[in-house]
Amino acid sequence: MPSYPRPIQSRLPDVGTTIFTVMSALAQQHGAINLSQGFPDFDAPADLLALLNEATKAGHNQYAPMTGAPVLREAIAAKVQALYGAAYDVANEITVTAGATQAIFTAVAAMVHPGDEVIVFTPVYDSYGPSIELQGGKVVYADLSLPDYRPDWARVKALITPRTRMIIINSPHNPTGTVWTADDMAALEALVKDTDIVIVSDEVYEHMVFDQARHESVLRYPGLAERSFVVSSFGKTYHITGWKIAYCLAPRELMAEFRKAHQFIVFTVHAPSQYALAEFMKRPGWYEQLKALYQGKRDIFRQALSSSRFELLPCQGTYFQCVKYSAISDEGDRAFVERLTREHGVAAIPVSAFYPNGDDHGVIRFCFAKSAATLESALARLVRL
Ligand code: PMP
Ligand code: GLN
Repeated sequence: MPSYPRPIQSRLPDVGTTIFTVMSALAQQHGAINLSQGFPDFDAPADLLALLNEATKAGHNQYAPMTGAPVLREAIAAKVQALYGAAYDVANEITVTAGATQAIFTAVAAMVHPGDEVIVFTPVYDSYGPSIELQGGKVVYADLSLPDYRPDWARVKALITPRTRMIIINSPHNPTGTVWTADDMAALEALVKDTDIVIVSDEVYEHMVFDQARHESVLRYPGLAERSFVVSSFGKTYHITGWKIAYCLAPRELMAEFRKAHQFIVFTVHAPSQYALAEFMKRPGWYEQLKALYQGKRDIFRQALSSSRFELLPCQGTYFQCVKYSAISDEGDRAFVERLTREHGVAAIPVSAFYPNGDDHGVIRFCFAKSAATLESALARLVRL
């Protein structure tokens, strides 16, 4: 291969390979148990796989409609009506996307002009910043502080300027497992009232909220829903992260802009998955089972680590558990997870990867979306440290 002979002015000069790719590769290289990148190590339900097979045999192998297969959009509308009492129009207010990543990227591409400011909360999921910067937007960071990582609304208010175009929120929160309360949503609603600020609400962990708490979807708050793109991912909900399929809801005026961008970013999404999911979504009880499954895994994980030298941080939702390790090591979090992978055979994510300047608070994230056997082996190694 020849090498490119000219200097490149990178659009993303500070971006390297994502930490999820880096740590999964390191885990594989060392044969470590991979509790780093967030994905289940157990399979999707066999019925869902059978439905996918049937969808291909039934001839759903050409382009689905640009906005998503109508049967899937109908199933999504029925879901949000049943769970949140939210009425979304199947034709104009729901779009199926290639994962939540593409939904978020598309909402930003559709709404953010060069020079616009977008507020995100640190620690921040790694795709938000680059999505904003690729549009020429400016990322503004609001800190969620240790130990409970709760939003400080007075500080968020102080960050709002006439250039603030968007706020991206994420509850349940990756990586910290924090779940926002009704008071948080009311505070946000009051902040954006009478402004032109739009919200992207990343709710991919909406069904993983523990201990009888309620998921405070933006969809429950009319003053927020009227200005929000709400994103959820089938990848998390049905153990199919590799299918890369998700959806976005928004009022029709916002969705019209979203679709202008969507049609040129992907145009449409893998068709057979859409028909399979539309059918599978009719099964009752899935969301309750999913919550119980992950709450059980969280409890096993926390119970075992409570007798270790790791210090557990709260985990109210998601399939992630953050811990401090200062009783074990004074290394930086990257050095620590690399050594944990190499020497002790368990991979994790350094939470500094979720800060723009790599702020290191000595916190690492484990993913507990793993089979009982995987968790048992990993925990046996972690409690010995
Ligand atoms: N947002 C958050 C907070 C996530 O954790 C993830 C993936 N783990 C995504 C978005 C991306 O989801 P998808 O795989 O559907 O693109
Ligand atoms: N969102 C997943 C996580 O937080 C990873 C997704 C990815 O690898 N980009 O681990």
